[in-house]
Amino acid sequence: MKIPMNPRPQRAGLHSRHLQQHHPAAEVCHNLKRPVRVMKFGGTSVGDASCIARVVEIIRAASLECHVVVVVSAMSGVTNKLVEAATQSEAGRHAPAASILEGIRVQHERAIDALIHSAAERARIDCKMKALFEEGARLCKGTSLLRELTLRSRDAILGLGERLSAPLVAAALAERGMASEAIEATELVVTDACHGGADPFMDHTRERCQARLRPLLDQDVVPVVTGFIGATPEGVPTTLGRGGSDYSATILAAALQADEAIIWTDVDGLQTADPRLVDDGCTIPEISYREASELAYFGARVLHPKTIRAVMQCGIPLWIRNTFAPKQPGTKITPAGYPGGGAVKALSAMSDVVLINVGGPAMVEVPDVLGRTFRTTAAVRADVLLISQSSSQNDLCLVIPSAFAKCTVEALRHEFAHELAHEKTEHISVDPTVAIVAVVGQHLRGIAGVIGRTFSALDRASVNLVAIAQGATDCTLSFVVAKEDMKTALISIHSEFQLGSASSRKIPEPATEYPYPSLPATNSAD
Ligand code: ADP
Ligand code: ASP
Ligand code: MG
Repeated sequence: MKIPMNPRPQRAGLHSRHLQQHHPAAEVCHNLKRPVRVMKFGGTSVGDASCIARVVEIIRAASLECHVVVVVSAMSGVTNKLVEAATQSEAGRHAPAASILEGIRVQHERAIDALIHSAAERARIDCKMKALFEEGARLCKGTSLLRELTLRSRDAILGLGERLSAPLVAAALAERGMASEAIEATELVVTDACHGGADPFMDHTRERCQARLRPLLDQDVVPVVTGFIGATPEGVPTTLGRGGSDYSATILAAALQADEAIIWTDVDGLQTADPRLVDDGCTIPEISYREASELAYFGARVLHPKTIRAVMQCGIPLWIRNTFAPKQPGTKITPAGYPGGGAVKALSAMSDVVLINVGGPAMVEVPDVLGRTFRTTAAVRADVLLISQSSSQNDLCLVIPSAFAKCTVEALRHEFAHELAHEKTEHISVDPTVAIVAVVGQHLRGIAGVIGRTFSALDRASVNLVAIAQGATDCTLSFVVAKEDMKTALISIHSEFQLGSASSRKIPEPATEYPYPSLPATNSAD
């Protein structure tokens, strides 16, 4: 299989860094003879032996022309199973937890049987797997004995998936004759202690990555790094949040001042809407950091919401490409996006949210309601996705992820206990029946008619609006609808702005800007 590695090369060449700020510690990496690409493979991409074999081919093709740093997710489904094992253990049920671990062991064993044939490689990987499963069993056993699952032990259990997949992919590369080394990101990514959603300390991370990865790249060894995990400066394992391997990839790309980062996944790139909800979406050829961040923030699962954050400063181009159709060019995410003015580019939506209302007629007399509300949400680390407030300040509504609903409402009721007791705050209520929809595009605020067309389309589709937020950012119009209306809302707005039809798009096809090289002949079915 021959894969066009850079289907739309930058005109200034792969080594172009005109958008990148140089960090002194990163200079060492510039001495590498070839470009550096960080390539992240998601769970479905490493889901079984045949998927891993494809991944190996993609890495092999890329490593012919550049240095590759690989980042891997856990095999598909494994992190969810680990969540279940942790939950069972917390309830004191060790047997079900042990059987979940056994299922995961079988899943890996099957892939190893199919991929690893050399005796030495097999012995090495068997030994590694044994040690990891023993560790997993100890963690679950300890949790079930104590019947307590701290965020710290949860991170240790959830991180096992990536620690299992990285040695497997490294062994599969070795089997194909490529020098490789599996590396646990606890060695590289230094994070704060915010378990379940840690953020990196980039200076430390940069030093570690330079010291550990550069010598490997110098010797043409492919590092295979675990996504999703990191460790505090004291070495306590953390995770970056569910779906966080995308973030791991850009953290490493920034730390190494890589030339590109590529998120290899199971779709052709960033689509104009979630393909599970809108049938006729199409791949966006090029989009800005800002637009991609907004889409990710409002639920486009293909990209972890923090992914762009890591490359924001250095301007490294990020691609989203399809492991299962590697000849497709995918989506290129750049600091400025396509320089062709504003237009609605894509939609995203989130249904795992709740709307919290803090309000009541007597609210006007309550001092500092806004400040106290947001201090409270910050204290429980609830991400406020959207806010809307009546001008009389009688009512404030905020939308947060469902996972934070219980603790946020409890904390708000505690914060306003005095007012509630004196019936000043009429209610703090939760509505779990809502969803957020976001319309994203550059300079939306300045484009006449976007709001009118959006709301007319919703009106025609009989979708009722629950709350609206616009104006805080130049490129997003977000609003709340009933969960049951979310899909209809997406389909009607997608159709209103003709996002599904390439011919009617305002954005010219990027071929004018980034000429496609003729695709090399391939002997695979792709
Ligand atoms: P991976 O395991 O590779 O990290 P994810 O499942 O996390 O993959 O993300 C890929 C999925 O994101 C796609 O299969 C698709 O269903 C979903 N998705 C949601 N919104 C979008 C969008 N706008 N564009 C592309 N994919 C999207
Ligand atoms: N395996 C982790 C998860 O499922 C991280 C990732 O896949 O990005 O959340
Ligand atoms: Mg993902």
